[in-house]
Amino acid sequence: MLFEFSELDWLFHDSEDIESFLNRIIELIYKHMNINGCAVYLLDESSDQLVLMASEHIVQQSGTTPVESSRYLKRGEGLCGKAIESGEIEYSSRHRLKMAVPISRGRIPLGAILLTRSRRPFNRIDAGTMRVLTSQLANILENARTFYTPTINTGLEPGYGSLEFNTQVIMQGTGASPGQAFGESYILDRKRSFTELRRIRFERLYTYIELSAAIDRTEEQLLELQKSVEENLSDSASLIFTSHLLILKDKSFNSEIKKRINAGINPPAALLTVTDNYIKAFAESDNPFVREKVEDLEDLVQRIFSNLLGEETAPANAEGRIVIAKSLYPSDILMLASERIAGILMVSGGVTAHISILAQSLKIPLVIADFPELMKSEYSLPIIIDGDTGRFCINPDSSLIDEYRDILDRRQTAKNAVLDDNTFTRCGEKINLLTNINLIPDLEEAVKLNAAGVGLYRTEYPFLLRNSFPTEEEQFAIYKQVIDLSGDLPVTFRTLDVGGDKILSYYRDYKEENPFLGLRSIRFSLQNPAIFRSQIRAILRAAGEKRVKLMFPMISTMEELRTAKELLQQSIEDLENDGFYPVIPEVGAMIEIPSLLAILDHVCEEVDFLSIGTNDFIQYMLAVDRNNEKLKDYYNPHNPSVLRGLKFISDTSRAHGIDLTICGEMAHQREYLPFLLGIGVRNLSVSTGYLMETQQIISGISLDEAEAIADEVLSHSSIYEIERALGFI
Ligand code: PEP
Ligand code: MG
Repeated sequence: MLFEFSELDWLFHDSEDIESFLNRIIELIYKHMNINGCAVYLLDESSDQLVLMASEHIVQQSGTTPVESSRYLKRGEGLCGKAIESGEIEYSSRHRLKMAVPISRGRIPLGAILLTRSRRPFNRIDAGTMRVLTSQLANILENARTFYTPTINTGLEPGYGSLEFNTQVIMQGTGASPGQAFGESYILDRKRSFTELRRIRFERLYTYIELSAAIDRTEEQLLELQKSVEENLSDSASLIFTSHLLILKDKSFNSEIKKRINAGINPPAALLTVTDNYIKAFAESDNPFVREKVEDLEDLVQRIFSNLLGEETAPANAEGRIVIAKSLYPSDILMLASERIAGILMVSGGVTAHISILAQSLKIPLVIADFPELMKSEYSLPIIIDGDTGRFCINPDSSLIDEYRDILDRRQTAKNAVLDDNTFTRCGEKINLLTNINLIPDLEEAVKLNAAGVGLYRTEYPFLLRNSFPTEEEQFAIYKQVIDLSGDLPVTFRTLDVGGDKILSYYRDYKEENPFLGLRSIRFSLQNPAIFRSQIRAILRAAGEKRVKLMFPMISTMEELRTAKELLQQSIEDLENDGFYPVIPEVGAMIEIPSLLAILDHVCEEVDFLSIGTNDFIQYMLAVDRNNEKLKDYYNPHNPSVLRGLKFISDTSRAHGIDLTICGEMAHQREYLPFLLGIGVRNLSVSTGYLMETQQIISGISLDEAEAIADEVLSHSSIYEIERALGFI
């Protein structure tokens, strides 16, 4: 800690407004740094400009060193504007007598601090000190800003529709599925919509015929949606509207409504009362599966109301809109995809890996931001979201809308581009660029793009999107589509990787205290050998004459690997007993748990290939939840232990002549690709959306340079030095 707690406490003490608070921060900085000028700029979200909030400079004999003179700075303007834009420390060009340090929480920029000196240039140590200092200040500053300044929170009354936006507001979140979208908001809050239904005062008496017509219309719409899911997402067509449709058909539900209408109650009110009774009964059930149905019921009734009353309620359909939601189930995303929404803005703050992966597969731009208040905003706010940068804008002005329309047009044109047949580095080394797929549409896109094969098929997605375990036949049908579509391209099937945040709601023991450390992945499969064997049989039957690769996720011991292989052998025998002689697949292990490193030589002797799932490898190496937005800074792919671990795996697999692929997110990240190629990795597998960009980045890398970067990075033991070597600072 650079700042003592007593100092931090003093910052708040008696500070009446944000200026006096910031002046105290400046005093503290003077105490810790040898400077003669300091200015604090904060980023104003509504105008997206830096505003000078406090400054102080000391007159010295050599004269003063003025701090940045402008009160307002756009991004990219002046040293502070540059620092905010790059997210990195910026120096004045020649003598380094000025240094601008960005302040951010995670990737959310908050402002910048400008420091000046009259003589000694700012150096690495100063930068390091300021980095620590600003990281301590970021959280306090963010809180202080909310607390002291009139932000958009001001005037927020409890209740819905009370968060108003009269001007353009640009905010920063995290991009979780690429692409841009523009549309009116659609707030997906079943509780809210349902509560609002209860508030409606019906202006007239409706007839039973009108209610019946609304119910029929709702049923038609649901069947249409169901059909479009089946057509577009055949592998996940798990009758997602089943419970809606079953409730509509429920005899006692209908007769209860009729009874009340016959007793003189207005039909919509009768519908609400009966629904309330059902909700109560569902919510009290011991069965979690039944409890989950409350949401379906609320959703259904909202749809009926919208058909009965029209515009008075939230729109029944989210078509073309930006959906704002706090949390989503995979089935929600499917429903929304079937309604052809434009994008999703999730406002709970946490990145849920499987939701973002699903959104990527369905090509729905997704931004995640820690802004739950947005759930209280009015319906139909115009919003732009940018899933590439994580920015979003509420009430965009016409010039911004035009800008985004241009981007969307360009994207449309770029859609027809395809990959070069092969991927080469600048110096001519061939790299095997494969793709990760989750659902059939990913594979269709990969084939269209001309990808070299599938390096990771996450087979759990069809399991996640259903209401019960898919049978062997259902799985066979899905895998057969994968085999047929992929033709001669190699395909790596990863066996079921459920658990963690990929919860099967229909599995009886699914509640765990620490799901990421629980019955996840291969552990689940080994504890449920019948499910595991039926999956393997389905894959091998679907593969037919083709030799596929089979990969076990999250292997941590030799015993797990050997038991999984034994179960594979038993599955082969099952098939042979039925008269089907499968082609024996290549067998691989995913390296995601660091314990495997200590026994890697032995693992290599018993597998045909290895694949590193860097997403989990980082999570388990560093003990950081990969989904926790608040721990983003700890989840660091360039931590020396991670990088040295990767190098060790690359060397060991090479020594054993075993193929190694990287299939986690690091495989497409510009900043890490030179390192990965530099340590000898030649197979990369990335989401289809990143294929083009990754091929382009690789074509700009020369192996000599990449090896030099890797050597240098590996010679360092601190994150700071590695960041310098990788060019981050
Ligand atoms: C990984 O962990 O890096 C990986 C590819 O698997 P998933 O993201 O599906 O956990
Ligand atoms: Mg993983």
